[in-house]
Amino acid sequence: MKILRHPHEVFPPIDYARREGASIGLVPTMGALHAGHYALVRQSASQCDKTVATIFVNPTQFGPNEDLSRYPRTLETDLEGLAAAGADFVFVPQESHLYPRGFSTFVEPPTVSLPLEGTFRPGHYRGVATIVLKLFNLIPATTAFFGRKDYQQFLTIQKMVEDLNVPIRVEACETIREADGLALSSRNRYLSPGDRSRAVGIYRSLQSTLKVFETGVRKTAALEAVLTQTLEESGIHEIDYARVVDAQTLQEIESVSSPAVALIAARLGATRLIDNWILQT
Ligand code: AMP
Repeated sequence: MKILRHPHEVFPPIDYARREGASIGLVPTMGALHAGHYALVRQSASQCDKTVATIFVNPTQFGPNEDLSRYPRTLETDLEGLAAAGADFVFVPQESHLYPRGFSTFVEPPTVSLPLEGTFRPGHYRGVATIVLKLFNLIPATTAFFGRKDYQQFLTIQKMVEDLNVPIRVEACETIREADGLALSSRNRYLSPGDRSRAVGIYRSLQSTLKVFETGVRKTAALEAVLTQTLEESGIHEIDYARVVDAQTLQEIESVSSPAVALIAARLGATRLIDNWILQT
C-alpha cells in the first residue's frame, strides 16, 4: 500500500492506472477507522482493480461548537487496517495543502442537504460537498463508496455528482453494526458505559418502527410516534430529530406510498449519533 501525502503526488499514479485501463475505487474517510470503513474498502477492492482510501479530518464540515479538535486520530492503526482490507493507495493530506491561505471557493450543496442534518448542522454539507468534490478532482476514480449510515450525506453526494456532471459512479454500502445493532461510528468510543447501553435504543427504535410498518401502518405521524416513544423508553431524551420522510428527496410525507426512510439523530452525553432504516413499500 502506497501512502501519498501531498496533493501533487496523488493524481499522477491514479491517472496512470486509469489510462492502463484499471477501474479505481475511492473510499473517503476521516480516519479513526472501524469495521464499517473497512467494509467499504473491501467492497471497493472486490469491485475495482485499484482502491484508494483517504484520511482527512475535514475542518470545513465542523460547526464552531462541534468536535473538530477532539475528533479521534489513530493514523498508525488506520494504515494497518487499510492495508489488511486491500487498499492500494492511501491519501493522507495536510490541512494546509487542501485549504491553503486564501481558500474561498465552496460547493453550494443540493436541496436534499437542507432538512434534518442540514437544520441541525448548518454549513456541514457545504463542507462535505466541497471536500468530496476536491477529492474527486484529485483522484480520478471510477467509483466512490459511501456508507448508508450517513444516508443524507450519500444522497447529497449522489445529487452533487449528477448536478455537476462529475464523471464518477457513487455507490452506497450497507451499515455495519455492533452485535446489539448499534451502528459503528468513530464517535462511539466517547460513550460512557451507561450511554453505550442506552445507545442501542436508536437501533431498537428503528426496528420497532419497521415492525409497525410491516403490519401495514403507513401514516407518518403514527410511525414517527413509535420512533420517538421507543427512544424515550430507552432513556434517550435529547432527540434532534426522529422522522419518516421520502427516501429520495427527504421531503415530509403524510403517509408512505413509495420508499421512505426513518432517520434519527440523538445526543447521548456529549456524543451525537445518527442512524436510519429504509422502509420499502
Ligand atoms: P467518516 O470517517 O465518518 O467520514 O465515514 C467515512 C465513510 O464511512 C462514510 O461514507 C460513512 O458513511 C462510512 N461509514 C461510517 N460508519 C459506517 C458504518 N457503521 N457502516 C458502513 N459505513 C460507515
